[in-house]
Amino acid sequence: MSIATSPRPIVDFEPDPDVTTFSLVEGETTFADLGIAPDLLAVLTKRGITSPFPIQTMTIPDALAGRDVSGKAQTGSGKTLAFGLPLIERTKTAKPRRPHAIVLVPTRELANQVAEELSPLAAARGLWLCAIYGGASMYRQIQALRQGVDIVIATPGRLNDLLERGEMSVSAVKNVVLDEADQMADMGFLPQVERILGQIEGETQTLLFSATLDGAIRTLVQRYQKDPVRHEVVSTQATVDTLAQRFIGVTPESKIEIASRICAGAKRVIVFVRTTHGADRLAEQLGRTGLRAAAIHGRLSQSKRERTLADFARGSMPVLVATNVAARGLHVDGIDVVIHYDPPEDHKVYLHRSGRTARAGESGMVVTLVLPIEEREVAAIERAAGIDVALVRMDADDERLLDLGAWEPPRGLPDALSYSRGRTSTAPARNGRGGGGGGRPRRPSGNGGGYGASRGGYSRGGR
Ligand code: ADP
Ligand code: MG
Repeated sequence: MSIATSPRPIVDFEPDPDVTTFSLVEGETTFADLGIAPDLLAVLTKRGITSPFPIQTMTIPDALAGRDVSGKAQTGSGKTLAFGLPLIERTKTAKPRRPHAIVLVPTRELANQVAEELSPLAAARGLWLCAIYGGASMYRQIQALRQGVDIVIATPGRLNDLLERGEMSVSAVKNVVLDEADQMADMGFLPQVERILGQIEGETQTLLFSATLDGAIRTLVQRYQKDPVRHEVVSTQATVDTLAQRFIGVTPESKIEIASRICAGAKRVIVFVRTTHGADRLAEQLGRTGLRAAAIHGRLSQSKRERTLADFARGSMPVLVATNVAARGLHVDGIDVVIHYDPPEDHKVYLHRSGRTARAGESGMVVTLVLPIEEREVAAIERAAGIDVALVRMDADDERLLDLGAWEPPRGLPDALSYSRGRTSTAPARNGRGGGGGGRPRRPSGNGGGYGASRGGYSRGGR
């Protein structure tokens, strides 16, 4: 896969009395420079991964040296290899039911994705890894643990179940990774996480990755990390920079048709809605307009979710209608359009959802559909996210819907105070072509990306 590196320079960040920060010299760093051994380099090269992303350049040397690391970086910045490579370098073969390393993640999808991304690397070292999560057969997970798993990648709830049943112990764990720690906090998993960490005996190395390092995460860092090195990629801005954003004024009557026309022009699109019911209904409505669409939400069975995601990743089902929670940690490459069909709850949700596209330096198109009664709320979200893109009202037959990247929306949010909903749009009716050129989404070629090919979570080879 050819993915451009981050458009933004890396910075040494945020003086904080509690943590050490290291500045980074920019340049053509290689994974070998960072200390990754030839056998793992070979695995990376085979997958077309040759130069490290910023978060990897920053954290890998410290992690290899055995330091605790707090890493702050957005979705798509390459955190999995940032912790995965050092983890595999440092993990030793474990005894049955007493893994040497645990990686805690918020969702089962993420557990699978991490397992898949790391399993060829683990195989190169003869290490076994296993994804463990709820909603799947506990029996098979228990069998795997009995045979001996060196690295357990788990959601906190199921891991606690297994600990309580005595099927596994964390007493021998030497390496801990907390991935997407802020999402685990948002989903209420911190007590579970702490229960697990509290059972570890002896010294551990803890690598923590999160989109934010304040609030509850700060407490976690203080409690469970020893003299951590903190690294941060400034990326909220970088993410927004690589996104082309459109805010389209719709009516209740035109909304579905407009969404359908946008989807029809996309290669792989995620459509966000607020409720489970709304997701099912919209998938069906979009289906009736001739699109191949499916919903994903918390009430689906694990196997159904996996099938839907696999179809989506493969490209056979290009329109995924999702609730916020269902899309958490979801990682599929080549999503060129994100549609906020229901407006996001706040600017954080806007950024989170929008981060499903423009991953790993790709560019992407983010479209928010705005009903007249939602205009005010959406303008407030834009303001909070630091976005300045005017709303453009459109009918369902507007030509501009067919190629959203071909025109530039005007700038200018309505004035926060004087804005009232009867006012006419700040957008000119026709802003025509051209308008600055930028922002056209690049269609990533080939490669369905990170998900799907192999299931099961064991490393192939080894043993
Ligand atoms: P995050 O966990 O920060 O959301 P991921 O670790 O899932 O991000 O990485 C996003 C994508 O970028 C994945 O497809 C991954 O294989 C790819 N990737 C990661 N590091 C590199 C790299 N150094 N070069 C090229 N691709 C990379
Ligand atoms: Mg990740």
